[in-house]
Amino acid sequence: MEAIFGGFSGLLLFGTLAALANFVGGLLLIKSGAHRFGERFLKYLVALGAGFMLAAIFIEMLPETVNIWTESYKGVSAAKAVGGSMTLLLGGYLLIQLFEHTIAPHFHFGAETHPESFMRPSAAYTAVGGLWIHTFFDGVSIAAAFLVSFRVGLLVFIAILLHKMPEGFTVASIMLASGRSTTKALWATLAIGAATLAGVVAIALVQERVTSIVAYALPFSAGVTLYVAASDLIPEVNQKEERNPMVSIVVFAGVALFYLLHRLMEG
Ligand SMILES: [Zn+2]
Ligand SMILES: [Zn+2]
Repeated sequence: MEAIFGGFSGLLLFGTLAALANFVGGLLLIKSGAHRFGERFLKYLVALGAGFMLAAIFIEMLPETVNIWTESYKGVSAAKAVGGSMTLLLGGYLLIQLFEHTIAPHFHFGAETHPESFMRPSAAYTAVGGLWIHTFFDGVSIAAAFLVSFRVGLLVFIAILLHKMPEGFTVASIMLASGRSTTKALWATLAIGAATLAGVVAIALVQERVTSIVAYALPFSAGVTLYVAASDLIPEVNQKEERNPMVSIVVFAGVALFYLLHRLMEG
């Protein structure tokens, strides 16, 4: 499988699949006339994605980061060796706080149910713009993980993929709630998908010149992913949980699914 899906074309394939999931999420909102089936299905996907993502960060991305950094700083303590990578991790986390919640006035995952927050016409674009930065790093995560190994790449790809449909749904719902047409909403989801693909391509191109790019891209995008999982998706799970505790249980199912696939891929 690695022979077929490895290399640059493999990266493009996985990037395109993630981008397509964004678009399908947008379609789901528009075709099902918002909410109904789409929302019920996607809230479980948000919970599953959050659990899987958290496990992928702590069990794959961070250990691989520590491995890369301690190997390149031999002779110093492990704490000193990984210092730079932990700064990148924090930087990735804070970047999304800045773009999704400091610059953008109002953003949350899932269906937009308070359009009054979008009185200013530019507000929707700011929110989608903030999400654009995050989705670019979704692509960076996928590419950086594949640079570590095919197995790590596949696990991180699945982690990212699981939240891609809810993401497209979110973008489309922001656009519709701010009075845009369904066509514009679909274009916005395409733009978000394109950002993911751009993130994948950017890492693939930089890697040609700077082979150590993975040392920086992996912890930084892990910080971004941590923000998405713990500060974007989990609050959405907890909000839904008031109505249905099953949604919160699915977070644990996401972690369990990660361990299962992790186990299967080792064999
Ligand atoms: Zn809202
Ligand atoms: Zn994302």
